[in-house]
Amino acid sequence: MKNLWAPWRMSYILGQETLPTGCIFDFAKDKSHDQKNLILFRDSLTVILLNRFPYANGHLLVAPARHVAEMTDLHQQENHALIDLIQQSVSIIKKHLRPDGFNIGLNLGEVAGAGLADHLHFHVIPRWNGDHNFMTVIGEIRSIPEHIDNTFDKLLPDFQKLTKTTN
Ligand SMILES: [Zn+2]
Repeated sequence: MKNLWAPWRMSYILGQETLPTGCIFDFAKDKSHDQKNLILFRDSLTVILLNRFPYANGHLLVAPARHVAEMTDLHQQENHALIDLIQQSVSIIKKHLRPDGFNIGLNLGEVAGAGLADHLHFHVIPRWNGDHNFMTVIGEIRSIPEHIDNTFDKLLPDFQKLTKTTN
């Protein structure tokens, strides 16, 4: 699947920015949010970021703060925090992007399609009626109608209002 309109990638292609190396969920651990790394929310248990290579506008990744790969590695407190944040994410996306539905899920292991298999993360993907348009069917290309920085700015204020868990 390719995205037809993703101009924020151009700065990487042109060498104006380098793709960060290492685990994307582990950047800016000291910050509650971070525009450069698209981190919308972080507390001691969880981190939420915008997927830089989205399937749709507002495609979020919700992950535990700890770098763990397996469901069985998660503590009960993390399980609760993750589900709670998925719920809050759905609510914030509904308010700002007004989707008609969502795909929410987890790819565990590379065989299941996980791109970042060693740090588990839930995908929260808003869906709109008609978003499976002819381009998706014919060319496996999806157009993303809004610049990712605009989506970030739109969603950030509500993520900043969420209650943080601190250990
Ligand atoms: Zn990690």
